[in-house]
Amino acid sequence: MNRVEELEENLAEVEERIAKACEVAGRSRDEVTLLAVTKTWPASDVEILYGLGLRNFAENRDQEAGAKVGQLRHLSEARWHMVGRLQRNKAKSVVDWADQVDSVDSVRLAEALARAARVRERTLDVLLQVSIDGDTSRGGVAVADVAELAGVITRSGDLILRGAMTVAPRTMEPSQAFQALASVVSRLRDDHPTAIHMSAGMSGDLEDAISHGSTCVRVGTALLGSRRLTSP
Ligand SMILES: *Cc1c(COP(=O)(O)O)cnc(C)c1O
Repeated sequence: MNRVEELEENLAEVEERIAKACEVAGRSRDEVTLLAVTKTWPASDVEILYGLGLRNFAENRDQEAGAKVGQLRHLSEARWHMVGRLQRNKAKSVVDWADQVDSVDSVRLAEALARAARVRERTLDVLLQVSIDGDTSRGGVAVADVAELAGVITRSGDLILRGAMTVAPRTMEPSQAFQALASVVSRLRDDHPTAIHMSAGMSGDLEDAISHGSTCVRVGTALLGSRRLTSP
């Protein structure tokens, strides 16, 4: 089987899982975006997935992503997300390739991204990355600090708060983490009308996330296969 056939088959399986999960949850398929996590995979795989109809792609390392997106400027409808931990000194570079940063977890990072966006005379869509178990060493803002960070983002004028994301901690049942994120997002929506998105669910747990209201599933392995390189 060639790579096109392989990705086509994987995509069909993922699409079937998403459709089934939406049906079980009584939700419309349109409410859930499939974000293809293409980290460690070549630009040619992104071209194949684009050809199969996907438009939303995610990377987790600034340097790798900058190079890849640079080769893919002809995919004019592609929309790129940064989903990895981000150092403040990479803010300028990330704004050059990312349409949305899903991993904003500190006031200082938000301020650096806002400055970088202003210099480029653009706005930048962002999600708050929330640490559901409070272990912020692995990235994410503690639930108690969400409201303050959301306020900083909204007041900046350069960043547009689109919602929140989480990676389910290994120490917790995913469904518990997704339920906690759903309540964070529902509170955010009350104060910030643009903050409608809940990004949760990966290859292993997307059904669970959709049943808890996820509007964006981030899928790497189930679409592209096991990553040969480790991506921190
Ligand atoms: C790699 C990654 C994913 C995709 O994980 P899979 O288990 O390969 O689907 C999702 N979200 C984030 C933040 C990632 O870094």
